[in-house]
Amino acid sequence: MSPSGNVKRAFYALVANGLRAAPLWDSKLQRFVGMLTITDFINILHCYYRSPMVRMTELQYHVYLKCSDHILISISPEASLFDAIYSLLKYKIHRLPVMDPESGNVLHILTHKRILKFLHIFKTKVPKPAFMGRQIQELGIGTFRNIATVQQTATLYEALAIFVERRVSALPVVDEQGKVVSLYSRFDVINLAAQKSYNNLDMPMQEVIRRRSSFVEGVIKCYPYETLETIIDRIVNAEVHRLVLVDRADVVKGIISLSDLLQAMVLTPAGIDALLS
Ligand code: ADP
Ligand code: ADP
Ligand code: AMP
Repeated sequence: MSPSGNVKRAFYALVANGLRAAPLWDSKLQRFVGMLTITDFINILHCYYRSPMVRMTELQYHVYLKCSDHILISISPEASLFDAIYSLLKYKIHRLPVMDPESGNVLHILTHKRILKFLHIFKTKVPKPAFMGRQIQELGIGTFRNIATVQQTATLYEALAIFVERRVSALPVVDEQGKVVSLYSRFDVINLAAQKSYNNLDMPMQEVIRRRSSFVEGVIKCYPYETLETIIDRIVNAEVHRLVLVDRADVVKGIISLSDLLQAMVLTPAGIDALLS
């Protein structure tokens, strides 16, 4: 993708090809200058949306890209898995390109999901740490305070505002009692480009959820008394980026994301906290 190309079309191209992100190539500089991700799509929609009656212009997409950082965070194929996890967590990104230092080509894009799946496949080859059998509430892995949620009666625009302000990757959708009824992730927002329905962000979340074309059935949850091992098995098998931690009444109490699990399993034992910095 190029920063001077048609950005709206670039997002359609992502959707059409089942992709979630693409490296941005600058033909003047002759190098990659960043990543175009769903977060960028959300930031643009939220920043320039006025009402269902006012269409966004192509110019507005360009203004956004002009203001972005123009630095691509990447790793070399020789880097360790540890380095990759450290970069993903430290820079709070979800896509890490593996770049050939000689040709400058992007060889692969690493994600938390791929890495945890890999570690899970090879778990029988390494000794199992004792903490795998302990309960998540004693280990304190995850976020348990100030959870960003969205009411099912809120509008899609309000949900996008929460994504922008809180920089979280997903929002549990809750009812008036705080019970989780659904999960809306950044990935789901790209559906708006597919369905060309981003011109009406005044739609209530209940309807947005109903109209989703591809999604995971139900909410993949966990409970504070479950063991770390159970949680890892569930998140890997469901192929989701996080579990919603609930009490017995289904009220949201926390989020356990792949970032939290990789921090706890790989970085914490090495004495590094990348999520804090
Ligand atoms: P998403 O979860 O929507 O795929 P990310 O969390 O990876 O997105 O992206 C967050 C922000 O960081 C976006 O503005 C994106 O452009 C930027 N970004 C993501 N990956 C990289 C990268 N490897 N190098 C530079 N910027 C990146
Ligand atoms: P990504 O691979 O981009 O990180 P996500 O895992 O955030 O994507 O989302 C992929 C799909 O899975 C989305 O439709 C999202 O709503 C759904 N999903 C993610 N986490 C959960 C969960 N805990 N419960 C139910 N659905 C989920
Ligand atoms: P992620 O962006 O999902 O990889 O997670 C990065 C950090 O944000 C982790 O510590 C998560 O527990 C936390 N987090 C993710 N989603 C939420 C949310 N909705 N509310 C609060 N914290 C969250």
